Formats: sequence, structure tokens, C-alpha cells
Amino acid sequence: MTMRHPLIAGNWKMHKTPQETEEFIVKFLPKLANVEAIEVLIIPPFTCLDRAGKLLQGQPLQLGAQDMHYEEEGAFTGAISARMLKACGCSYVLVGHSERRELFHDDDTIVARKLNAVLDADLMPILCVGETLSEHDLVEEKISRQLTEDLAGIDGSTLARITIAYEPIWAIGTGKTATPEVAQETISIIRRFIVTNYDEASAQGIRILYGGSVKPANAASLMAQPDIDGALVGGAALVAESFGQIVDAVRS
Ligand code: PEP
Repeated sequence: MTMRHPLIAGNWKMHKTPQETEEFIVKFLPKLANVEAIEVLIIPPFTCLDRAGKLLQGQPLQLGAQDMHYEEEGAFTGAISARMLKACGCSYVLVGHSERRELFHDDDTIVARKLNAVLDADLMPILCVGETLSEHDLVEEKISRQLTEDLAGIDGSTLARITIAYEPIWAIGTGKTATPEVAQETISIIRRFIVTNYDEASAQGIRILYGGSVKPANAASLMAQPDIDGALVGGAALVAESFGQIVDAVRS
């Protein structure tokens, strides 16, 4: 039985207005009655964070951001800083989501800078790594390279503040979930990487999520795997009912 605290995170991507965010929260919060052993997090667009943060004060639902600039402030048109996110009530920030890497050219140097900026601001990063379909046969090389570059300079005690999300790119938004066995195998590769580059205690302590077409129907079998500590959910996190069913699947 793992001592790691499970996390179920819903990444809303570019969906919902502040009003729709409020409607979701009002529907979803009652579903968290008696949820104690797991952390639940929503990650709305920037424009919804302030409204969400006010509604979530004192509630058992955490708030996160989908991205962040690594500079503290300045002439960075369109960018959002850690201080702005904290003022909205965020505690988590996604770093290196595959859509940021692919569509917005966040390479590993930028991902590493963002990761450090999130940590420096006392926010908690969720570092996303994963392979495309054509890279799947070489998944260990791909993920080891990403982790080596993204975690450069991060020491063991700082590592403990990071959550890693393994998201095979071929499973994101496609309906093609990695089987529980494939997800478990790759996440165990990530833990072995941490043993090799840090130590056994760090590997056993770090929380690693699976993401990629997680739905109410497959959540329980994925979460039953010994190395999977939660889920990063996209599409199914947009609807209070299905996100609530995923939380239920994990706690049952
Ligand atoms: C994601 O956005 O990180 C994700 C896993 O999306 P989906 O659940 O829709 O595949």
C-alpha cells in the first residue's frame, strides 16, 4: 500500500467562461463530501481563476493553472506570472503539458526554467512527460531525456515537491487509453529513473500521475496499479458528473 497521497487533477484546457466555471463548482463541490484521503484539483483557463479562487476558499477542491511564465514580471505580452496565480488562489501549476510543448514550442530548456520558477514561488508543479506514438518503442529513452533536461539542477529535497504526470501523447484526447499494464510499466520506468538519479526514498516518495483519456470506466483499473498515484484528466474533467465518478472510482 502506497503512502503517497493520490491526486485527481482536471485540466480544462481552453474551455469554460467564469460563469461556466462557477456552475461547475456549485455542482461539483457536494460530490467531495467525505473525500479525505485524496486531493482533487481543477485547472481552469487563466480568465476563470479569480472567480474560482473566491468560490473555493476553505473548500476541499484545489485550484491550479495550465501554464506560467518563468519571469516575475515585465514586458511579456500575454504572459501570466506566479504572483498573479497565487493572488487568484492557485496552489498548483502544470509545466510542460504536451500541448504547450507541441503548439507553443515550450522546449525542455523553457520547461526547466518554468519548473524552477514555480518552485521558487512556493507553488507546486505538475511536470508532464510522455512520448508520441512513433516514439513509443523508445519510451524509456524519450522520458529519460525529458526528465534529465527538465529536472536539471533540482536536488532531492526539492524533487519531493514535484508531481510528475506521465501522459502518452497518443492517448491524449484520442479515446485511446494506455492499458493499466502499459501505464504501470512506464511509470515504473520513471521511478527507476529517480532511483538512478536521486535515491530509492525519493523514488518511493514522488507522486506520479497517469493522464490520457482517463474516464469513469477506466479510472479504477488504472488507479489500482501500484505505481500510479492519481490521474490528470482532460475531457472527462469538464463535466461535474464524470469528474465526480472518476474521484469515486479512485476512493472506492
Ligand atoms: C490532458 O489534457 O492532460 C489529458 C490527459 O486529456 P484527455 O483526458 O482528454 O485525454
